[in-house]
Amino acid sequence: MAKKDYYEVLGVAKDADASELKKAYRKLAVKYHPDNNPNNKEAEDKFKELSEAYDVLGDEKKRSTYDQFGHAAFEGGGGGGTGGFGGGGFNFTGDVGDIFESIFGGGDIFGGGRRRNGPQKGSNVGYNMQITFEEAFFGGTKDVTLPMIDNCPDCDGTGAKKGTFSENCRKCGGTGRERVQVQSLFGAMVQETECSACRGSGKIIKEPCPTCAGKGKVKRSKTLQINIPRGIDNGQKMAIGGKGYPGERGGPYGDLIITFYVSPHESFIRKGSNLHINFPLSFVQAALGDEVEIPTMEGKEKYSVKAGTQAGTVAYLRGKGMPDVNNSKRLGDIVVTFGVSVPVKLTERQKQLLMEFDNETGGEPKTHGKKWGFKK
Ligand SMILES: [Zn+2]
Ligand SMILES: [Zn+2]
Repeated sequence: MAKKDYYEVLGVAKDADASELKKAYRKLAVKYHPDNNPNNKEAEDKFKELSEAYDVLGDEKKRSTYDQFGHAAFEGGGGGGTGGFGGGGFNFTGDVGDIFESIFGGGDIFGGGRRRNGPQKGSNVGYNMQITFEEAFFGGTKDVTLPMIDNCPDCDGTGAKKGTFSENCRKCGGTGRERVQVQSLFGAMVQETECSACRGSGKIIKEPCPTCAGKGKVKRSKTLQINIPRGIDNGQKMAIGGKGYPGERGGPYGDLIITFYVSPHESFIRKGSNLHINFPLSFVQAALGDEVEIPTMEGKEKYSVKAGTQAGTVAYLRGKGMPDVNNSKRLGDIVVTFGVSVPVKLTERQKQLLMEFDNETGGEPKTHGKKWGFKK
């Protein structure tokens, strides 16, 4: 049995606005409501029909789908009712949204369709940049040449020969989408896909641009000056907006994403914004104390080693570490760990002196003995 037109069911014109629809529905719903018509099968059917019609027309999205496809949009399509959902009668108390999705593969078919056919941002381009530890500390600029794709300069990316125009695709009427019927679990269904004639662009180029062979894009290497941010760490990324691939159909360029690879330093090990360094003292320097020069990223820094410094003692050179990548005025520390080197390859005279020294101190590892818990 053919379904009645929803507008007819509600007794409104095709261009009725939301409030007119609501008013018409209310009036008829009260009239045919089962409570007011006990044991009246005809009124019950009429009431169901009303609810179904209002469920569709009362919802802007469903209404526009109905306007375009009619009842077929809500049924199995060509199945004459029995092939529909839930076997025969279509129950609108269910979630219509789910059905929309199973037909079109994603909710808002019209909005979605337009977006797909409209301007689209270009793809991002990734680039790995190797820099030295010094470059990460001081910052600076570096020129990089990237193999790129750009809009064709002769046709401005349209793909149509200069002076000619592309025309709307006839197959899809310029929408870039086409609808095909497919067989599915629920019977025949309408599915929306990219138009096969224009591959989604909505345009057919009559005379292709000779420079780009109608593609609208050309390969062209680009040289860019990249600012290396102070304090950038190994593996950190930086996005440069608008330096990626050109967009589709006049859309904006994608981004260039640079991943920095920082070569290790020969003396410093970076941990966050602190720079760690091991600094060896001679046995005598550690015992007597000394003025030493500790390397930093910007030259050497004088430091007074206290007499009796033990191996493993840690000192901080505040504000001499790596700059914070988000605020280059804020710098970390240099963390110095002192080592004490034990002399090797001693001369006879040196050995003699050490033996004398040992006799003086009684042969005890004074501090270490205590620390390690030796008992005498
Ligand atoms: Zn071109
Ligand atoms: Zn097309």
